[in-house]
Amino acid sequence: MKIECNFNYSVEVEECNIDYLTSGFKQIQEMVFTDFAKITLVQFGDSAMKKATKPFCCTCGNNKDFIWKTKDAKPMKITTIRGEIELPQMQVQCKSCGKKMFISRALLGIEKYQKMSSTTQKMLAFVGALTPFRVADKILGMVGIGIDRMRVWRCVQKVGKTIDFDLDPDELPLGEADGTGIPIIGIKKRGQELKVFIQKKVGGGVRIAGLAIGKYDAGWDKLFEPLRETILSFKNFLLVTDGDTSIFKGIKCVNVILQRCLWHIPHQLKHCLWEDKVKSKSAVWLKIMGKIFNIVAIRHQLEEAEIDAMLEDKRKMLDELITFCEESKCSHSAAYLRNSKPDMFSALEKRLNGKASSLVERVMRTVNMRVNVGKWTPQGALNAMNLRLAHYYNDWRPGEPDAKGVKIVRL
Ligand SMILES: [Zn+2]
Repeated sequence: MKIECNFNYSVEVEECNIDYLTSGFKQIQEMVFTDFAKITLVQFGDSAMKKATKPFCCTCGNNKDFIWKTKDAKPMKITTIRGEIELPQMQVQCKSCGKKMFISRALLGIEKYQKMSSTTQKMLAFVGALTPFRVADKILGMVGIGIDRMRVWRCVQKVGKTIDFDLDPDELPLGEADGTGIPIIGIKKRGQELKVFIQKKVGGGVRIAGLAIGKYDAGWDKLFEPLRETILSFKNFLLVTDGDTSIFKGIKCVNVILQRCLWHIPHQLKHCLWEDKVKSKSAVWLKIMGKIFNIVAIRHQLEEAEIDAMLEDKRKMLDELITFCEESKCSHSAAYLRNSKPDMFSALEKRLNGKASSLVERVMRTVNMRVNVGKWTPQGALNAMNLRLAHYYNDWRPGEPDAKGVKIVRL
């Protein structure tokens, strides 16, 4: 439809300074946008009323016979990515049942009782997932868009809730699982844990296969349950974890092979040595750490017999190290190594190339950069991380309002 737009403004400028002009343009922008949207809306309303079948429908089912009540009932506020504008609510009356209804939202593609389109909601949610709400508020304000942080927060919650993750059967049968503490409102320490399950991709890199929030030693079953069928569709699935036993318990699929994250083992052992009160960099400390670094260092692309020989030697070294820890009164360290032993080389034993490189660590940094700004409710944090991780790892994008069918010619 061709819309005749004539924008006529009288502008009074005292000084020709670009900053004054920039600020003045903000006023023009709002006026032009409002006028443009209003003129278009009313013309589409008129044209819709002339059509035999209307683009809206009464609750009684009638979508043919209506009469105009008003084209300018009390204005409604609509939020767009260009700011908030006021548009007229146009009202019609159903000739079948006599009911009155507003049609502006239906014509604008906005759901009943909503203030914005779903694209706007997604875009604002995206802003809130990338940056703290306070920063979103300030930057939007600086470019002349007055959208307060609460609205951004609400969009994050609404859109974040709709995001689901799953394993991709076409990607690798390899995953890592780990958790990170989340600052929760009303609790001093990091009261809840965000649980992240990633899947490695054929072409390198990772994707998010599952996300959940819960107590430290629980909640993994909730994350794995919806993935069960896809996990079982793989012949074997190698799951690398840092040894959190609740992860082991959460996944109840027979084809899953558990592998301790070899990258984590020296880190954990350092912590155990601290618990055993062994002085850092002391002779005993250095001996134990030197040995564990050797044990977890795996050389890849060996032949079958070479792998077996290497494994045999590593198991021997591990047993010797456990004995040495016991003799040196390092009971925490000895217990930790004993517990890790069964899952330390399972990938190599099954000849699965599961380089335990801890890719999940990088995902956790992506989480922490956002989640450490402020405090959250558990569900609030999960919704924000759904969006953030879906964007960084699974290519989620909010989309943009496109100019499909809008062509503007300067006269
Ligand atoms: Zn009706």
